[in-house]
Amino acid sequence: MADRKMVVRNIGLMLSGKMEAPILDADCIVAQGGKITGFGVEKDLDCEGADTLVDAQGVTLAPGLIDSHVHPVVGDYTPRQQQLHWIDSTLHGGVTTLISAGEVHMPGRPKDVVGLKAMAIASQRWYENFRPSGMKVHAGAPVIEHGMVEEDFKELADAGVKLLGEVGLGTVKDGKTAQQMVAWARKYGIQSTIHTGGPSIPGSGLIDADMVLETGTDVVGHINGGHSALPDDQIVCLCENCKAALEIVHNGNERAALLTLNTARELGKLDQVILGTDGPAGSGVQPLGILRMIAMLSSLGNVPAEIAFCFGNGNTSRQRKLDTGLIEVGMCADFVLMDQAQHAPGKTILESVQLGNLPGVGMTVIDGTIRSLRSRNTPPAMRLPELVEGQFTG
Ligand SMILES: [Zn+2]
Repeated sequence: MADRKMVVRNIGLMLSGKMEAPILDADCIVAQGGKITGFGVEKDLDCEGADTLVDAQGVTLAPGLIDSHVHPVVGDYTPRQQQLHWIDSTLHGGVTTLISAGEVHMPGRPKDVVGLKAMAIASQRWYENFRPSGMKVHAGAPVIEHGMVEEDFKELADAGVKLLGEVGLGTVKDGKTAQQMVAWARKYGIQSTIHTGGPSIPGSGLIDADMVLETGTDVVGHINGGHSALPDDQIVCLCENCKAALEIVHNGNERAALLTLNTARELGKLDQVILGTDGPAGSGVQPLGILRMIAMLSSLGNVPAEIAFCFGNGNTSRQRKLDTGLIEVGMCADFVLMDQAQHAPGKTILESVQLGNLPGVGMTVIDGTIRSLRSRNTPPAMRLPELVEGQFTG
């Protein structure tokens, strides 16, 4: 299985995930053992002996989308809205990687230090051992609580924990303590994020720009609020002063999202803009959330669609140092194949997205394996890729 070869040919448009060159001169991509081994014009590539051969029928191929902010709990079930198969539904929205911002919806979530460490390690394990519908779920993201010491972060890192949950969702709500704990986390290679804005649900609290700046996390989690956004001047201040990723979420304030986008553009910081849904949340789950954010930011924010797609794959890859989300040799073969939705206005898929419409997803691929065919959730695509060789096993 490890050396299985996949070829996708007859691609109409290939997006790179790279803002500096978002559109590739390529109609074919080759992967072996789950990694990209070549892409470009078909006649220049070694396409022989493919175990899986896809004729894209002229549709668009992009790196699989990444949701930078989810709250998974266990398997493909969320207790938050008592909903099954939200991850499978998200795969049908073109997303191939999910990043946990804390498994905070676990009923009875332990808040004592030994308990929170145990749950983080267990969560990391159960999503590593079981990928719902093939989805990559980076989970095991503990929420910091008072009483944690440096040794706790070392122990978490040694056990395979690579992320912190949103700072501020636990008892630590002062910048000084949070900064110390985030520094310990970073020392041991654990990435951090923070809840920015007003309280999300009863029990959580306000995190303002001063606290975000003092804490210094790697990601400014939902800079547009989750759901209540900070006042405009504080959002602008964060854009001006943060070198961290500026994460815009679906489950946030859309006006604040556009303020962030416009401010980041003025500052020449669009490469720091990344996307998440923040689902499952009080507002439910958002299977098409990343596509909806791309269409919203492209249309209302006046960003070319090929750049807006980078917010949902390549930028997140670079900001979070992932091995997916970019079309590059050696990167994971995680793709979304999509086309202009039937009867959507616009001459091309990019034009239709820039007019605020969602594309129709026709296939997702994770590690060189087809994980879904025509999406049951997006509007139907004009054209669908065709499986010529190999089997779709679901
Ligand atoms: Zn939050």
